[in-house]
Amino acid sequence: MNRVRQIAIALGLLFLLPAVLLTFRELRSLNEFEDTLGKAYDRQLDGTLFSVNQFSQDLAESWGRELDQSEEVGSDFFLNFPTVSQVFVFGEGEGQLPKQFGEGPQLTVQDAAAIFAQNKALIKRLNTYMRADYRKIEPLSPRPDLGIQLVLLLAQIPGVESPKACLLVLETNAYIKQNLAPRLSLVSQEDFNLIVFRDSLDPQIVHTTDTIQDPEFIGQKALWLLPDHHIAIGTRGQSLESILKARSQGSLALILGVGLLMLLGIIWVFLSMRKEMQLAQTKSDFVANVSHEIRTPLALISMFAETLMLKRVPSEERKDTYYRIMFQESKRLTGLVNKILNFSQMEMGNRVYNFAVKDLNTLAKEVWEAYDYHLTQHGFVTSLEVSDSPAWALVDHEAIGEALVNLLDNAMKYSLEQKSIVLRTGGNTREVWLEVIDKGIGIPTDQQSNIFEKFHRVAQGPVHNTKGTGLGLTLVQRIMDAHQGRVEVHSKVDKGSRFQLVFARENAPT
Ligand code: ADP
Repeated sequence: MNRVRQIAIALGLLFLLPAVLLTFRELRSLNEFEDTLGKAYDRQLDGTLFSVNQFSQDLAESWGRELDQSEEVGSDFFLNFPTVSQVFVFGEGEGQLPKQFGEGPQLTVQDAAAIFAQNKALIKRLNTYMRADYRKIEPLSPRPDLGIQLVLLLAQIPGVESPKACLLVLETNAYIKQNLAPRLSLVSQEDFNLIVFRDSLDPQIVHTTDTIQDPEFIGQKALWLLPDHHIAIGTRGQSLESILKARSQGSLALILGVGLLMLLGIIWVFLSMRKEMQLAQTKSDFVANVSHEIRTPLALISMFAETLMLKRVPSEERKDTYYRIMFQESKRLTGLVNKILNFSQMEMGNRVYNFAVKDLNTLAKEVWEAYDYHLTQHGFVTSLEVSDSPAWALVDHEAIGEALVNLLDNAMKYSLEQKSIVLRTGGNTREVWLEVIDKGIGIPTDQQSNIFEKFHRVAQGPVHNTKGTGLGLTLVQRIMDAHQGRVEVHSKVDKGSRFQLVFARENAPT
């Protein structure tokens, strides 16, 4: 059994190792998947931001080009760029107020003058760029309170030497809806959701390309022209979490399924292996038992034969005893060999039965006549109790005789002090039976179903000291199967056993 434990441990490891490796691998691939997905979203967001900022830059440059045309900002400008509501052009002279174009309640001329005054340094820098032929456009600090974004740029009017500083008032929401939205829809291609939200303690979504409720934000980047606004990416329909959850659930189910299958397979392998090992063990026990059973009578026969041959027997009486012992022992040998032959014949399915309707009472009497002497010789108190009415059954006379002899043999072998054996017949309207009852060592309840298996012998207790092949009851069971009857065992440890061969009742033969 030590070997069985070793194999069990090896099989356990064999299962555990791949299961652990598989789980580890799956978990790692899940993390990798999450990483890759995160990176892909990040790259997507970078691309989107670039495209949106480029678009804003182009638009702002076209404002500049339009403002380059003349000193005045005509109504055409506001028609072309409806999201720009006001333009202030910085006055040259000291204390001069800027010129206002466009109607807008948001910013007064004084406000604009103050902003110009604050950004003098910036304007100077823009001038330097302008001289190098590069128009830099500067979004100023956002004014969410007014819903506007101020943009500072320089315009170079033909014929005028120095460029003029212009302050544009951009309507933030209108700009996002009218200018950015079509661009975002183009970029998102309905593959994912682009979200523009105003950055504050409580981020407010201003625009989304998809209409799902509460979209999940993945990454976020500030917009160039609207520095207080961010753009983020979001999945469509399914959230990232639910995609990951579905994937991890799928993987988990796979791991569990594979694990369970492997476990079942290993349990099956282990159980069949254990059964095979037990069978191998019982077979080798069988060989040992049979050799032992054969050796004893052979030794007796050869010993007495030799004594007789050497004519060393003192009296005729003693001679008779020797002959009788030799005869009995050779009969025992024949019985044993027959048992094994019958068994192997049955195993191959070659045994032929000759069925005929017989009275079990008669059959019991015949077996009893041949066997009772043997029992009483061994000190048994015996009784044959046949029922009053005939018990007709369809039987193979010889096979049932053999089954009965096996049962009587066992009753004798497995009785200790209480040497009592009863052979009884009985029946009811449907069934008839033969019973062998002893007051022997009995069979533990958990073993009662195993004793019919081939080579099986009860492992503990006094049985160990008794010789046997473990084939007797297997023969009885097979014979009863062939008769479409059954064997019943009723037994209690230390109280005794009752083996019952039950047949279908037949009508009396005519
Ligand atoms: P064996 O050659 O060992 O007697 P059997 O197949 O006839 O083989 O019986 C199987 C086992 O059943 C026996 O080894 C014994 O443990 C148990 N057994 C059979 N008959 C009896 C009985 N009458 N009383 C107690 N145990 C029995």
